[in-house]
Amino acid sequence: MAEVIERLADLKTVTPMMAQYLEVKKEYADYILMYRLGDFYECFFDDALIASKELELTLTARDCGDGKRGAMCGVPFHKADVYVGKLVERGYKVAICEQVEDPKSKEGKGLVKREVIRVVTPGTITDGSLLKEGQNNFLMSMAFGQGGVGIAFVDVSTGEVSATLVAAKDTEAKIQNEISTYQPSEVIMNIPRAECVGICSYLTERYGASVTDNQKRLFEYNRSRELVRGIFLEEADKLSSPELTMAVGALVAYIKETQKCEVAFLKEINVYSEGQYLDIDANTRRNLELTESMRTKEKRGSLLWVLDRTNTAMGARLLRSWILKPLLNPATISQRQAAVSDLVNDAKKRDALGEILDGMLDIERLTAKAVYGTANARDLRAICQSIEKLPRIKALISGFKSDYMKNIADELDTLDDISDLLSRAIVDTPPLTVREGGMIREGFNSDLDYYRSIKNGGTNIMAEIEERERELTGIKTLRVDYNKVFGYFIEVTKMYYELVPDRYVRKQTLTNCERFITQELKEMESTILGAEEKIVSLEFEIFTSLRQFVSENCERIRYSASLIAELDAYYSLAVVAEKNGYVRPDVDLSSAIFIKDGRHPVVEKFVTDSYFVPNDTVLDTEMNKIMIITGPNMAGKSTYMRQVAIITIMAQIGSFVPAREARIGIVDKVFTRVGASDDLASGQSTFMLEMSEVAAILKNATKRSLLIYDEVGRGTSTYDGMSIARSVIEYTYSKKISAKTLFATHYHELTDMEEEFPGIVNYNIAAKKRGDSVIFLRKIVRGGTDDSYGIEVAKLAGVPNEVVRRAKEILEGIEKNQPDIKEQSVKLPDDRIDVFSSIVASRESEIAEKIKGVDINTITPIEAMNLLFELKKMLTD
Ligand code: ADP
Ligand code: MG
Repeated sequence: MAEVIERLADLKTVTPMMAQYLEVKKEYADYILMYRLGDFYECFFDDALIASKELELTLTARDCGDGKRGAMCGVPFHKADVYVGKLVERGYKVAICEQVEDPKSKEGKGLVKREVIRVVTPGTITDGSLLKEGQNNFLMSMAFGQGGVGIAFVDVSTGEVSATLVAAKDTEAKIQNEISTYQPSEVIMNIPRAECVGICSYLTERYGASVTDNQKRLFEYNRSRELVRGIFLEEADKLSSPELTMAVGALVAYIKETQKCEVAFLKEINVYSEGQYLDIDANTRRNLELTESMRTKEKRGSLLWVLDRTNTAMGARLLRSWILKPLLNPATISQRQAAVSDLVNDAKKRDALGEILDGMLDIERLTAKAVYGTANARDLRAICQSIEKLPRIKALISGFKSDYMKNIADELDTLDDISDLLSRAIVDTPPLTVREGGMIREGFNSDLDYYRSIKNGGTNIMAEIEERERELTGIKTLRVDYNKVFGYFIEVTKMYYELVPDRYVRKQTLTNCERFITQELKEMESTILGAEEKIVSLEFEIFTSLRQFVSENCERIRYSASLIAELDAYYSLAVVAEKNGYVRPDVDLSSAIFIKDGRHPVVEKFVTDSYFVPNDTVLDTEMNKIMIITGPNMAGKSTYMRQVAIITIMAQIGSFVPAREARIGIVDKVFTRVGASDDLASGQSTFMLEMSEVAAILKNATKRSLLIYDEVGRGTSTYDGMSIARSVIEYTYSKKISAKTLFATHYHELTDMEEEFPGIVNYNIAAKKRGDSVIFLRKIVRGGTDDSYGIEVAKLAGVPNEVVRRAKEILEGIEKNQPDIKEQSVKLPDDRIDVFSSIVASRESEIAEKIKGVDINTITPIEAMNLLFELKKMLTD
């Protein structure tokens, strides 16, 4: 057996076909090239190795000259889409090389001509089945230049374009933040990978993005400027630096190349800069679980999961982007709140709206498919059915009071002309393919109707001929019929053979009958078959003109789609607010955060065996600047601090918040840092990382920021850690930052700071010892705590009694030798914060414990009465 070679580079002499293959492959070197051979798309060499591994295909080999055989594997052509989808999903770029000549009609021998007709890359997909519904799919470009790094993102399937310039300082961290906001699936850039290794590995390892480096050609400045001007017209002036122009220009160039298309479906450019949105860095976003949970990386368990009750894919994408980019302007925020209020206050309209939105398909992406020429009749039908709902929506929302709702009602183009045309033109359930007819309605086009009547007339004419020929010949069993091989024929059974007239021409003899044709039948046949062909081509022509019509109107459809997305996002926030008992917070430019009975919107969904204990918060930049929070493990410190940050973020999104009352002074940045040992999920739980993030907070935080330190300093030895923690608090407290801060710590010594620094306030999350056990009250109260209840928690967790007992002995020993530890008294609540009385809370919790202990199946009526009596007594005591 000949040697099988796997690497393209090892190939020396080649067959003519291989030569053609190599010619194409040269241009698509970083793509997986799928090369049409007969009924298969084949991959060769290195591509074959990848494809066979990723797609679980058998690896074979093919002669490629020089007595050598090249590694090969293939997929049946009619199943190509599935395989292409899988490859792209895994981050590969695929080029499809098709035969562009019909091999049958080709004269002589020679090779059939082949060309790449389509390329599919992770960032340029428009096929809905390969895309996540409620999520954008971004292609990113990075233009490194003298003036910084121009970064642009586009969602090819929806046309959204954003761009920002990252200045030279802190470039890497800033770019990583942008990446974590948009989570691109594909990136192109103008410099070699080697020059930005950190960013590239962040992209590939964390987001599985496909990175194509060193694309100077796509980023060429003059061409970029022309492309950008051509598409965005005067909007292009928003791109205020060459790097921005290059970044956006490269995207446009790349889209045109990959879509093999002269137009591009793009909206206006959103050029944003630092300070336009609430700044949430990548680490904080992950930590607060805004769009995905930390452990599973899935939507479930995130803020988005709670807030997303949207009914359309467009609304879901918009809401997601709102969560990633909360606002800073109280006026805009309050406008959003007003729109949500409108829907909160009118349950009937809200429900009705929800119902209409529910049937609305992704017209944004469907329209993109029309523009790129990949939409089929089913897609146009879907657009039609969706936009048919627009008049009802417009009417429904026209009575609302808020500016944003009124704006949607006024501006919503109901696209009647488009829905009218499409509904008249396209049948209710069109086929997937556009090349076999069956798409266009009866009565839409008179030519089409004419050919159809001929085709359908065929059956009538057949019956007529049959009738007449029976009479003329006297053959009672004569039949006119059709089959694919012979076309139309007259069939006569054996016993009537002598009655067959001369004008019948024999075609086929079977055992019991003979088949004939006549001049008349032949003519009829060619008209009918001609009509059939005509129908198919005419339908295709009508369909493409409809698709073209949709494409020409894409601006209008897109605008309506964006208004629907906005409406759906308000709808979702209203539904959630109503269902979960949220309130509309006051949002202003003050520097205080005041929350009454705040809850953690996600944790409250998971606490099912008891109820979620609400807590208050008072933070400002004066007397309540830094909360030092102590309390045993599992008390609820982390939950409480995150809840404050999340409520603040929700307020700045324009959402209602889980609280009885809230007033939020806008914050400019939110930071969270969790002590190293709490951060196992990332797999990078090193103290070094913890400290570098603390460094970033201290460098970037301002007086307007909200800072959360959760057990910072934990990743090192006690004295080190405590010293660092204290020094971080001092720095945060000082004029250099002076930001509102929550600091949870197990270093009780830090509670001393309250005495020394006005504005540092001690809190603890109450827990109560009962015998050997500890009851978590989940209530935040003023004062430090002197006890970590570590041993009690250990006991609760099931550590063997013997170990617990011994731990107690050791502790008692230590305490005897260091009497001062015990001396720190628990400070009583003062009036700076209005909390539930902790006594009531503790009572409620005891009662809850008691009820939990009851076995309903075995308790007798008398016992139940007694218990009730006892519970009542506990309450009234
Ligand atoms: P800590 O950071 O103090 O160790 P966590 O904040 O991680 O504690 O909370 C531990 C668990 O306690 C949470 O997972 C949640 O189930 C529960 N919990 C926290 N806060 C509350 C609350 N306010 N009401 C009810 N359960 C809570
Ligand atoms: Mg914690």
